[in-house]
Amino acid sequence: MVKVERKLEEIMVESPDGIGASDDEWAAFRRIEVIDFPLTFDFRHSLGKLSRFFLELENQRLMGTCCPVCHSIWLPPRTLCPDHHAVNDWVELGGQGVLEAFSISSYALGADSADESVVLAYVKLHGAKTALLQQLRNVPRDKQIEPGMPVKVVWSKIDVQHPMQLFWFEPDI
Ligand SMILES: [Zn+2]
Repeated sequence: MVKVERKLEEIMVESPDGIGASDDEWAAFRRIEVIDFPLTFDFRHSLGKLSRFFLELENQRLMGTCCPVCHSIWLPPRTLCPDHHAVNDWVELGGQGVLEAFSISSYALGADSADESVVLAYVKLHGAKTALLQQLRNVPRDKQIEPGMPVKVVWSKIDVQHPMQLFWFEPDI
């Protein structure tokens, strides 16, 4: 017999109303096949004018932009200062900052186990006017996550799929 590779199982389901098969007008349609149906999408897209931010991550450099008029430093980088509409310059920031806000997801899509929680954090690096959204990792179990917590950038030692996976934040203790 020809095999259907993505077929997982065949099951007989009962009427959701609890009607016995002899009175169930849908009885002939209660045999159900369950199959695996993977969906994969690939998109090719440009990171645009702000690509230098992503490219410099490969060199372990965090680049913001600086307004030539008010000297505000934007991270995430902006091409234009929103106050002066001046074209900004690139500027490198240090790897330390402060946690501004956070959200803990107790279960992450694609995680190997349910206890791999993910902490998303808004971090304002020293000198920057705005906060950057990135993962906060390796928080000691006895450490309370709270706004104001000093954090530092940690760089990946392994190859990654996306430039934003090249770094994350950890408590600076
Ligand atoms: Zn400005």
